[in-house]
Amino acid sequence: MRYEEFYRQSVEQPELFWAEQARRIHWHTPPRQILDASRPPFRQWFVGGTTNLCYNAVDRHVSERGGQLALVAISAETGITRELTYRDLYREVNTFAAVLASLGVGHGDRVVIYMPNIAEAVFAMLACSRIGAIHSVVFGGFAAHNLALRIDDAKPKLLIATDAGMRGGKVFPYKPLVDAALDEARHQPAHVLLVDRGLDVQMTRVAGRDLDYASLRASYEGTEVPVTWLESNEPSYLLYTSGTTGKPKGIQRYVGGYAVAMAMSITTIFDIAPGQVMFSTSDVGWAVGHSYNVYAPLIGGATSLLYEGLPAHPDPGIWWRLCERYGVRAMFSSPTALRVLKKQDASWLKKYDLSRLKWLFVAGEPLDEPTAHWITDGLGVPVIDNYWQTETGWPAITLMPGLDLKPVKFGSPGLPSPGYRMKVIDEGTGEELPPHQKGVLVFVPPLPPGCLSTVWGDDDRYVSSYFSHFNELLYSSLDWAIRDEHGYTTILGRTDDVINVAGHRLGTREIEESVSTHPACAEAAVVGVHDDLKGQVPVVFATLKQGVTEELRVVAKAMQQRVVEQLGGVAKPARIYVVNALPKTRSGKLLRRSLQALVQHTDPGDLSTLDDPGALDEVRRALERGP
Ligand code: ATP
Ligand code: MG
Repeated sequence: MRYEEFYRQSVEQPELFWAEQARRIHWHTPPRQILDASRPPFRQWFVGGTTNLCYNAVDRHVSERGGQLALVAISAETGITRELTYRDLYREVNTFAAVLASLGVGHGDRVVIYMPNIAEAVFAMLACSRIGAIHSVVFGGFAAHNLALRIDDAKPKLLIATDAGMRGGKVFPYKPLVDAALDEARHQPAHVLLVDRGLDVQMTRVAGRDLDYASLRASYEGTEVPVTWLESNEPSYLLYTSGTTGKPKGIQRYVGGYAVAMAMSITTIFDIAPGQVMFSTSDVGWAVGHSYNVYAPLIGGATSLLYEGLPAHPDPGIWWRLCERYGVRAMFSSPTALRVLKKQDASWLKKYDLSRLKWLFVAGEPLDEPTAHWITDGLGVPVIDNYWQTETGWPAITLMPGLDLKPVKFGSPGLPSPGYRMKVIDEGTGEELPPHQKGVLVFVPPLPPGCLSTVWGDDDRYVSSYFSHFNELLYSSLDWAIRDEHGYTTILGRTDDVINVAGHRLGTREIEESVSTHPACAEAAVVGVHDDLKGQVPVVFATLKQGVTEELRVVAKAMQQRVVEQLGGVAKPARIYVVNALPKTRSGKLLRRSLQALVQHTDPGDLSTLDDPGALDEVRRALERGP
């Protein structure tokens, strides 16, 4: 079916459409009602249906494709690769579930998983799903304080962790962070289950609390654990947003609608059929990792590659070598990772046989045009940007090459996904704007299956964060966007970050994109800074590509000139600072509010998800030096 037809059905007859899509998964009991919208803005999909994510991801495939690879966990750090068939995965997940059950974990209990991208993280997630426990994966790079906050929020019965992670050849012990987090947290899980990789030789254990997975695994190996069938709207997992705009929100996901969205999107968006190979470079700690490293490819009977390591370590060819070796069809990465690769020689993109690679998907941040061109030309495959949020759980704006590929327009992730009714509206009046006018991107409820059901333990925050900006009839994405007459939408930045220069409203994206067209620019961040005359003026922070020899002042001047030429004098950056690094969240998003706070000497807000505090020192020094 063509995209237009598919999309039209999804918004004109949503219940009929989703009832049809629901046939893609196994239901233990079929739903009684497709959509219950009687208590807005809370809505329920597939009411009364019972199903299980683990059953759909694993059990269902064992008879038909038990010998096929399900998960390939590659560590470029340790050099170890583990290949697991669906049968192997079934066994490992059951064993893990038996261990969880032996520790008293059951239906509705929370389990915090604090692990790097290793196979056991996937086993643990699926084992939780199997027995109806609610997992909350905390990105392994987070510090003790972040972990403590998430422990207190979820109140888990169990914490699963590893001894250590690795990054760029260095070992980063996790266990001391677990101990520190539990010292800080008010809530204490009954046990800490340790998957010992043998990396942190000094790992200490607290008697009675800390248990070794290996020995429990040996006791329960081969045990089968029956699936716990869950009502479609019961929680499946919790996952925190990146904290780019403030305190992270604990997104609560349900079971049935999520399984349906995963099954539909893996074929229609990612163009992956059973037996084909998907390689997402995300960490399991993010939304992309949950959906496209774990649940969607497995529910779709595909092979999923899981990668521990950096994009260019041991060398910039590592990802393409893996694509060749496993015959990857769809790759999924982030603009941030592509910009890391772009600093390297483009010949790395041509070294391997990528004849089976059909698509490169990216998400998470605006994909700037120079990077999009660089990677498309280098790989010779289309790059398909997709826009989504932790809240949505799957792409909201994308192209759907699994149906038919519409033209890729650089700068725009594309068209609305099935079930998403979108508008760009005026921030003040709430009126829908005509094409080519900038405004707030909103979704008209119901949000399609797969999206959040609420903020964990905080229904009020769910309503106030997303449904209170205009009225309860619209979900605000909190992103600023523009649409063309064909429906292609371009994200211009966060509504919080919009820069208002003498009444002209500019998205951060527009100016950053313009600065990035300068050949010396690696990455740019722009913030609005208070100005007595104009209200605000744009201030730019830029990193340069390796090997730039021009004088910095000359480069900055030229960047400024480009913005004026491309966007007009109103967008002219008041100052341009060249820095070595930009502050980012752990998930690789520019933390503009921290830059703004440094320039204006104001409160930056919650910085717990900041990746490298050194980047802020760097900015401080640049500010002292002057532009
Ligand atoms: P928080 O909600 O805590 O502030 P966050 O919004 O960064 O953090 P995520 O859910 O990880 O948390 O990120 C979603 C946001 O990322 C989107 O709202 C949007 O701003 C941005 N984003 C995601 N994909 C794209 C894309 N393809 N193009 C432009 N922006 C994107
Ligand atoms: Mg957000």
